[in-house]
Amino acid sequence: MSDCLFCKIVDGRIPTSKVYEDELILAFKDIQPQRPVHILVIPKKHITSLATVDAGDAEILGRMLVKANEIAVAEGSPNGFRAIINTGEVGQQEVPHLHLHIVGGPDPVGPMLKRL
Ligand code: 5GP
Ligand code: ZN
Repeated sequence: MSDCLFCKIVDGRIPTSKVYEDELILAFKDIQPQRPVHILVIPKKHITSLATVDAGDAEILGRMLVKANEIAVAEGSPNGFRAIINTGEVGQQEVPHLHLHIVGGPDPVGPMLKRL
């Protein structure tokens, strides 16, 4: 998807603060962090949202979740975090490339966040 913002981050056309990468996924710092730790984990392959995945995406989705705690700990959230996937219009997803928000830090994040 040549005009997708996060695809541009994957292929290096837009610079970002990368914190983890493997053959399936990429993790980088959110440009407008809502908490001391705010990382986005995305598939390298373009997937629009959780509403468009199929069984063939299970390995990628699994990798995103399996790596989440390791990424959170490495970035300064050693005692847990909040994982959020905004999906579609109702979920108020702004960037139409699937992404998992990892939100945390040394302290509790508080009640459900207002906007992520
Ligand atoms: P959404 O509302 O779609 O769940 O979240 C999109 C997230 O992407 C927002 O938290 C926003 O700050 C972040 N974001 C938007 N554009 C960029 C960008 O160019 N670079 C980075 N690192 N994050 C971005
Ligand atoms: Zn994309």
